[in-house]
Amino acid sequence: MTQVRTRFAPSPTGFIHLGNIRSALYPWAFARANKGVFILRIEDTDVERSSQEAVDVIIEGMKWLGLDHDEGPYYQMQRMDRYKEVLQQMLEKGLVYPCYMSSEELDALRERQMANKEKPRYDGTWRPESGKTLPPVPEGVKPVLRFKNPQGGSVVWEDKVKGRIEISNDELDDLVIARPDGTPTYNFCVVVDDMDMGITHVIRGDDHVNNTPRQINILRALGQEPPVYAHLPTVLNEQGEKMSKRHGAKAVTQYRDEGYLADAIVNYLARLGWSHGDDEIFSREQLVEWFNLDHLGKSAGQFDEAKLRWVAQQHMKMASDALLAGLVREQWQRRGVSVPDELAQGDKLAAMCALFKDRCATTVELADWLAMYVGDVAAPAEELAAQLTDANKPAVAALAARLQTVDWEKGAINQAIKDTMAEFGLKMPQVAIPVRLLVCGRAQTPSVDAVLALFDRDVVLKRLAQV
Ligand code: GLU
Repeated sequence: MTQVRTRFAPSPTGFIHLGNIRSALYPWAFARANKGVFILRIEDTDVERSSQEAVDVIIEGMKWLGLDHDEGPYYQMQRMDRYKEVLQQMLEKGLVYPCYMSSEELDALRERQMANKEKPRYDGTWRPESGKTLPPVPEGVKPVLRFKNPQGGSVVWEDKVKGRIEISNDELDDLVIARPDGTPTYNFCVVVDDMDMGITHVIRGDDHVNNTPRQINILRALGQEPPVYAHLPTVLNEQGEKMSKRHGAKAVTQYRDEGYLADAIVNYLARLGWSHGDDEIFSREQLVEWFNLDHLGKSAGQFDEAKLRWVAQQHMKMASDALLAGLVREQWQRRGVSVPDELAQGDKLAAMCALFKDRCATTVELADWLAMYVGDVAAPAEELAAQLTDANKPAVAALAARLQTVDWEKGAINQAIKDTMAEFGLKMPQVAIPVRLLVCGRAQTPSVDAVLALFDRDVVLKRLAQV
């Protein structure tokens, strides 16, 4: 069996959102699932709109998501000589021909066809045929090169998403594949690249489905069998519009900055157009084990923020505490929080992550929670006044006294709280809530004994002494 070779071929014209990066995830996952090769190819022939900055953002986003490529990045602008070489070979073989029709003539032709209710198409004026006399070559006009599209018959392929597609060759006119200055056009570059890079599976957005019959015809003219195609339906935003920057889509790297785990985004995107039974939550390893082209969705995926958050929460739960500790440190660093030595390394921060991660969808939220361990806290005054009254102040003070001497671990802290409740005839919330407000700055936290045990005793005593 030939080795699977896939590619992601973005045009670096700006911004890359979740919908765009899904077109990288699927070929990556398919290559990994089949021990194949994943290639990154930058389609930068639109020189005015392309920029290195945009390339960098694409590479950064892919790197963050762990979509590592085995070959490339290849840049189409660096392959111009190769395209011209193939053009020359095609010209020599009579597979392409020069066309001298001016743009005025083309416009006039189009108008005539529209007036006759015909589909506008090139009429083959300059297409050489045996026994046909071509018009005299006009002087001083540089021709375009047109591909001699097969006449009659049709182009058929089994699309992995859309099923069988058949396009009659009569629908396809002779495509311009080189401009008057000799530069190759978009579809031609794609064909030469897919051929040279040995691409076996083209997995891309269905905005390219109209290019496919033309690309197949050119590939065949070059003696190549076409690859397998899978045209992915668009990704819609929550309002049902095509996802785009203009319609409020966020850049992929913004999700990183908001503290989403890369594996959560990978999981979410994988499900946005592909399924493995009813599985909603899976690891990167499972995705790579399961991914195939047989379960791609036919209808457009719709972005759903609530679902993304839910997936993200599940991944926070699954993530290793050591990984989370590293990411929380990064968040703190960005915020300029000075991290005490005991949290800058070692297991203590990991233990904190373990205690709080169930409540979070992102590491930003986790860093917010854990801020109580590295900075001052202030409970909302009104809430504190309502929860800490003459009825329970003595109990809090008595607890503080007990906490001075107990072993500093969860079980002993729990016993101290229980003893205090018994002494004052109070219920758990009457003690625990004011303690949380004073020590953590908030009334709700995971189990109070566990939360306290992760503080330094001195900090807890100092905060309780505000009573
Ligand atoms: N450069 C094209 C795009 O950004 C992709 C072309 C392809 O995958 O064949 O949409």
